Amino acid sequence: MWKNSFNSLSGSEQLSLIEAAERLFEDGCCCPIACGGGAARPCGAVEDGIKVASYAVHDGEEPPVSGWFGAGNIFFSGCSAKCVFCQNWPISQENNGKVYSIDEFCENVKKLLKKKVHNIGLVTADQYLSRVLRAFYKIRDDLNVPVVYNCNGAQTEKLFEIILKVSDIFLFDVKYASNGPAGELCDIKNYADVNRRCLDMLLERDLKWEEDDMGILRSGLIIRHLVLPNYIESSLEVINLLQEYRERGLNFKISLMSQYFPAYKAVNMEKLERKLKKNEYDAVVELVEKYDFDGWIQGLEE
Ligand code: SF4
Repeated sequence: MWKNSFNSLSGSEQLSLIEAAERLFEDGCCCPIACGGGAARPCGAVEDGIKVASYAVHDGEEPPVSGWFGAGNIFFSGCSAKCVFCQNWPISQENNGKVYSIDEFCENVKKLLKKKVHNIGLVTADQYLSRVLRAFYKIRDDLNVPVVYNCNGAQTEKLFEIILKVSDIFLFDVKYASNGPAGELCDIKNYADVNRRCLDMLLERDLKWEEDDMGILRSGLIIRHLVLPNYIESSLEVINLLQEYRERGLNFKISLMSQYFPAYKAVNMEKLERKLKKNEYDAVVELVEKYDFDGWIQGLEE
């Protein structure tokens, strides 16, 4: 019988990963900001419980992830990257959400599973990883679907080591291929270096693309890239970087996104205060097509 990565580990392996994740949180080094812990964590993480903005059956992920019955997404409150254009800013920047105990969290995951979701999708979960895994340990007999790790692409090496062992599907952002635009647009100023280290680790993990008989994804890497207005050179650099990784053997599908609209601080930023132009997006699409990447290219009007 198929088992997800978390349940393929022994109980003692699961517990040791939970404890390792707990130590990272206690030391305040679970993301590249390395805040050192304490009450005022920049990502907004609370000291007890898990702050969640919503538990939702989601049909907007890539087709083999949402499938027919939807992905069972959990949107966690807070984020370490704090991109100036974040379209989920009330959750990621204002830390909206409700704090659940681990037992309450378990009940909500079980409710999603009862709705026959194809997977459990952890959306921006870094700061709560230890408690999420603690919850998974409690409901391990019910957790019979893939775990999707949906992240900003800037995970520390120590946290990502754990994530790689407990996740089956990665919806992994590559936002910038160099630190210049990262420095302008998010709080993780060395984003490109951190992101590249994660890509190296994904390469070492050698994740296979595996679908079930119905075409629903069980395991695989989807790399997402959102194209921003006036940052087309940066997007082209990202696509060239992905080609380099493909040549080195990284197995992934690409998800190129055009859905940018000015939000949050971007509404007052000269370069970002408009939507994408067709000629901008076309330039990026052309390079993706030149490399013949497998995956999905969002239409400009979607
Ligand atoms: S994820 Fe939050 S708590 Fe952890 S180091 Fe980053 S800012 Fe601090």
